[in-house]
Amino acid sequence: MASIWEKPAQYLKGVGPQRARLLARLGIHSVGDLLYHLPRRYEDRTLCRPVKAYGEGETATAEGEVVAVQETRARSGMSVLRVALRDRWGIFYAVWFNQPYVKKVAKVGARLTVTGKVKYGFGVPEIQVAEFEAGEGDEGLSTGRIVPVYPLTEKLSQRMLRTVVFNTLKAEAASCPEILPPDLLASHGLLERGRALCAVHFPESMAEAEEARRRLVFEELFLLQVALLRHRQRVLAVEKEHRCGADGPKVRALREHLPFTLTPAQERAWREIARDMESRYPMQRLLQGDVGSGKTVVAALALAKAAENGLQGALMAPTEILAEQHYLNLRELYAAVGIEAVLLTGSTKKEERLKRLAAVANGEAAVVVGTHALIQEEVSFQRLGLVVIDEQHRFGVRQRGLLQAKGKTPDVLVMTATPIPRTLALTLYGDLDLTVIDALPPGRQPVKTVWLRPAELGRVYRFVRAEVEKGRQAYFVCPLIEESEQLAAQAASKLARELEEIFPAFRIGLLHGRLKLEERDKVMAAFRRNDVQLLVATTVVEVGVDVPNATVMVILDADRFGLAQLHQLRGRVGRGAHASYCILIAERTTPEAAARMSALTTLADGFALAEEDLRLRGPGEFFGTRQSGLPELKVANILRDHALLELARTEAARYLERDPDLVSPAGRMIKAELEARFANIKNLVS
Ligand code: ADP
Ligand code: MG
Repeated sequence: MASIWEKPAQYLKGVGPQRARLLARLGIHSVGDLLYHLPRRYEDRTLCRPVKAYGEGETATAEGEVVAVQETRARSGMSVLRVALRDRWGIFYAVWFNQPYVKKVAKVGARLTVTGKVKYGFGVPEIQVAEFEAGEGDEGLSTGRIVPVYPLTEKLSQRMLRTVVFNTLKAEAASCPEILPPDLLASHGLLERGRALCAVHFPESMAEAEEARRRLVFEELFLLQVALLRHRQRVLAVEKEHRCGADGPKVRALREHLPFTLTPAQERAWREIARDMESRYPMQRLLQGDVGSGKTVVAALALAKAAENGLQGALMAPTEILAEQHYLNLRELYAAVGIEAVLLTGSTKKEERLKRLAAVANGEAAVVVGTHALIQEEVSFQRLGLVVIDEQHRFGVRQRGLLQAKGKTPDVLVMTATPIPRTLALTLYGDLDLTVIDALPPGRQPVKTVWLRPAELGRVYRFVRAEVEKGRQAYFVCPLIEESEQLAAQAASKLARELEEIFPAFRIGLLHGRLKLEERDKVMAAFRRNDVQLLVATTVVEVGVDVPNATVMVILDADRFGLAQLHQLRGRVGRGAHASYCILIAERTTPEAAARMSALTTLADGFALAEEDLRLRGPGEFFGTRQSGLPELKVANILRDHALLELARTEAARYLERDPDLVSPAGRMIKAELEARFANIKNLVS
């Protein structure tokens, strides 16, 4: 029997091709997707109170028999249908605006159930109907009970979705066998799967809804943890083909060559990484450190160590600008020690690319730096021994896996500035070991952050002028235009022209996603040399860009950015010994935006900001977790469900001790479910 993850939603009763397309917009393709599309919240529409017990403006649901119908027209021409209904407590009115067709069902003697806001006209309560149900409706799914309210898309109504879910539950209950081992259900008091699915959509009580959700959250997290732990075990079960020896002359020379000494935190990180590289089993390590903590140099050492041992290393970054910067950095560092590095990005020209691909394939290129271009099929390595992924939260688990698969048993180092707490990181990245760089390089002064109104731009310009005259540089980041890179580019060009008039003596550079590679390179190179003093940019500079002489970051319309993004942007300054400034320009807009900007002006450290973000936005939109690179969870919320996450991890580990290869009948159920459900991370689950 096909599992619910294989049956397309299109053939369900009441769906069809057109609605299937609407459902697809919600990410619902299969029966399973539909049943695991959980209500966002519930409305209690049980009928236990008279309408007059509700206050003005409260939402009430009531059922009654039609005793009179009156249609009038408002002066605007709008039709107003007022229906008197009687229930066991007396008479109340229901009102429909501009829906004259309701007359057809609201006939004297008919029974109606209506939901809507309560108004008191002349003492008699009146419900302004938002949803109603006549004899033939969705079988009472939308009234007289606890009603699910789903995330929707245009043209799909709550009632429609409720009916489809209800019918599907009736028809498909048999295809939803239990997938968790029975002893687990018993020991944690979890509902059985079919019951949980029914109850999560159409609960008898709010307590039951919560219980059902708990079961489904546990199930999802348990499956994910089984996948992560098995992946880890599989990786660690295979010995590396080539393990690295102790640091040799190249790594030692590189260390001598660094323009600074490593901080104790960097030393510690490097020792852990070197030890992993020398061990018999492949490294699987997450290197976490706030923006500016100096992760790159640790990666440079690791790549050099691989090269010294005759292995190739790959460094993948999420943007071309960042990849180019890493490449330039490494080329300079490695020149002295004789390590060959090449760059591969989407804009590398054909002829040049073929040359570089050949160098990668024959092993001449010891270190390969690039973007997603590295995971293209045409890229093959001679002896890939180390994979480094920068700004890992911008990639998915799948992409990490693809790069990893280009070597036999490469060491893997992923780096991120996402400040998730240690326990959570361990669980989230269940397949990785964790190293944290918890201190910034010495001499750094916190970036002074202020929030000013657009009317105060004159002051900002004077300040920027003074900094540039001292020899420093500044970024101007344009308002966020997410919908269109084209519009963002236009806004940036316009701002650059304005600044040219304000600062005729300074050189102004322009950087946006629409520029050709050469153009971008030229601008970045000029900015690095301080030939350009003011860099006008879109959010292309958000991650990684490192020009220590830049000390001012001006962000226009800062209220449009999220906290994580603002923190990343601010991280572009304060990278050297000079005092640095971040200036947020915004009108006082929404209270949320104001709270974000105040948080930024008072908090410097990423962890503190993450906590504030959690408080401001609730767990749903937590700092960077949406981009954590993990498969999208449908049911669980890793922060709110933190306790269940730990439980799921413990239980998954315990289960795998008994049945590591998932070959028992229960294990086979789990395996099949994993493969169907997390197909997008195949390399992790199969
Ligand atoms: P991130 O962790 O954000 O990737 P980077 O690796 O880009 O940080 O480093 C930020 C800046 O700090 C760079 O300019 C780098 O050269 C500098 N840096 C790194 N380590 C040290 C150190 N130990 N002492 C002084 N400066 C350092
Ligand atoms: Mg970085």
